[in-house]
Amino acid sequence: MRKNLIILGATGSIGQQTLQVVRENPREFRILGLAGGKNLRLLEAQIREFKPKFFSCSGIGKKYARSLQMPLEKLAAQKCDLVVSAISGVAGLAPTLAAIQARNSIALANKESLVLAGKIVMAAAKKNGVNIFPIDSEHSAVWQLLQKVPREQVRRIILTASGGALRDVPLSKFPKISPKQVLAHPTWQMGAKITLDCATLANKAFEIIEAAQLFDFPLEKISAVIHPQSLVHALVETIDGNIFAQISRPTMKLPIALALFEGKRKFGTVQPLDLTQQNFEFRPIDPCRYPLFFSILKAAQRGGIFPAAAAAASEHYGAKFLAGEITFPEIAKLTASSLRKVRQKPANLKNILATVKSFQ
Ligand code: NDP
Ligand code: MG
Repeated sequence: MRKNLIILGATGSIGQQTLQVVRENPREFRILGLAGGKNLRLLEAQIREFKPKFFSCSGIGKKYARSLQMPLEKLAAQKCDLVVSAISGVAGLAPTLAAIQARNSIALANKESLVLAGKIVMAAAKKNGVNIFPIDSEHSAVWQLLQKVPREQVRRIILTASGGALRDVPLSKFPKISPKQVLAHPTWQMGAKITLDCATLANKAFEIIEAAQLFDFPLEKISAVIHPQSLVHALVETIDGNIFAQISRPTMKLPIALALFEGKRKFGTVQPLDLTQQNFEFRPIDPCRYPLFFSILKAAQRGGIFPAAAAAASEHYGAKFLAGEITFPEIAKLTASSLRKVRQKPANLKNILATVKSFQ
């Protein structure tokens, strides 16, 4: 039986790479639904190729029958075997929750869902008996490592970060950095938001929150380290002082395939690395270079509404930088000053959505 998939964010970087895995495994998967944003031309081509029963497009034209212009949440809730949640940013939360409430299993790329509402999303998954398979490469690595190392033996989870496009740029040049420079990521090809979040390291702070929620680990037991080569994706340190690492090429194909196959390994997904041709370098995270990382972590430690405020504020100011309206250092400065004005509230869905809205 082929697995029926719904892909949210089909026209994005993860969405297109997921469709490539589907293309290479036509006996395993069938596309039931596709959702895109504004890239109507690409969505049309995907619809022609994969012939989904349902699709949704926020930038849809009049050309299509109204019955096919399905709201995202409705599309996500169609009965299927797996929903790939790969919309970027805070917009990913509502359809991810809708999919879980419809008891659809999730392959999760949209980390923002867990940053905004991790407890709510994980509780809904538990209540509805829904599996969440991580697509984020670091979390895929931790997922694999925790299958080998018993939890009670784990002292610390360590996520790696490439350090982004500005890793080696002198700090004195930061005020004049252009969006183009930030979007030239050294090791990964990704969408604009996450590429910017790699340069500020907001992405890694989000991933620490994501890991805490996905694996039910305290935040203090999860840390991050810069690893410029992006070959080691995560490490697990045990109570006796061993460190186990997951190593693979910097390609999302592996974690996407592992999530689509629900943890089963598929022969020859990618070529293994030739270790003799690689360097493995690790560096600490410099607070002067990456202030946003520390602001978001502080918000995570405060809990309640703060992680949602941090995600929404940094997304808002990040978009302003990409639009040429503010400088690169202002993303961190303005996010930190907005967070100073936030009043703590219980992290229920109403407060979370109101917080997100206050930054839109
Ligand atoms: P992209 O920007 O490449 O793609 C985002 C997708 O979401 C596009 O299909 C876009 O549509 C759609 N989209 C954006 N906003 C909306 C909206 N308001 N309503 C409906 N659709 C929308 O992002 P990525 O693929 O890089 O990232 C997706 C998610 O995966 C993010 O949460 C990211 O953090 C995570 N991730 C990505 C990795 C990567 O390698 N790219 C690695 C690990 C995690 P359109 O383009 O048609 O406008
Ligand atoms: Mg990642």
